Amino acid sequence: MSKALLYDATLCIDCKQCEAACADQNKLPYDDNIAKEERQSEHKFTAVLSKNDKYMRRLCMNCQEPACVSVCPVAALRKTSEGPVIYEANRCMGCRYCMAACPFGVPKYEWSSLNPKVRKCTMCPDRVLAGRQTACAENCPTGATKFGDRDELINEARKRIQDNPANYIHHIYGVEEVGGTSVLLLSGVPFEEFGYRTDFPRDPLPLRTYQVLSKIPDFIPLGFVTLGGIWWITHRREAVAAAEGRQAHQAGKELK
Ligand code: SF4
Ligand code: SF4
Ligand code: SF4
Repeated sequence: MSKALLYDATLCIDCKQCEAACADQNKLPYDDNIAKEERQSEHKFTAVLSKNDKYMRRLCMNCQEPACVSVCPVAALRKTSEGPVIYEANRCMGCRYCMAACPFGVPKYEWSSLNPKVRKCTMCPDRVLAGRQTACAENCPTGATKFGDRDELINEARKRIQDNPANYIHHIYGVEEVGGTSVLLLSGVPFEEFGYRTDFPRDPLPLRTYQVLSKIPDFIPLGFVTLGGIWWITHRREAVAAAEGRQAHQAGKELK
């Protein structure tokens, strides 16, 4: 059964334990200055935003039918049946189509790295595939971030709205947006206040990607893929050369 995260902003206390746990899980730096950054970046996969004592998390929505996956020419991004949208850096050729395609603006690029990768929350796939909850959910002290079966979390979210209608906007964000997402949101204030778009289509975006691409002459995507392929081959050559250089250096040291 597909897993999901339910974030209930009305239970959030802005402790940022989710941010710290995410950084630890993904071997990213985290300190007081990074804690103050209220946006996702290549070194911060989730951010807790605050406004007038109300809070909201931002992270990859790990869409049910992800636009990023549909445009990736080398299958470096992949949706798993368990929920996470995973990324394989060794396949990535750095074309950054995924960044342009994501309706939530999530994937970030390591522009300053010599060996850049696309970075985003991948919903802790090692944990989820091993039957564990995500690091952010495990470390949330109030239950504001909860991990579980997507269908059960949707039912639970519906019940929370039903039991406390005055507390909530009567909408579970992520049930239908862009065909559904593996991150579900509840809030007491309009989602737009924290930058969440509410004008998305209800059908999956890959379908629209296909509809748009099918109207573009064949030579345009082919040209992009060819250029991307050349970039990828060059990039791989450099990586292999660097690795061989390191091995030769190591062998030289061992001979001494
Ligand atoms: S940068 Fe290109 S190759 Fe890499 S994950 Fe994104 S779409 Fe795929
Ligand atoms: S699911 Fe994992 S990678 Fe995503 S925000 Fe939570 S801890 Fe970070
Ligand atoms: S750990 Fe939980 S309560 Fe703390 S900021 Fe994150 S979601 Fe909110």
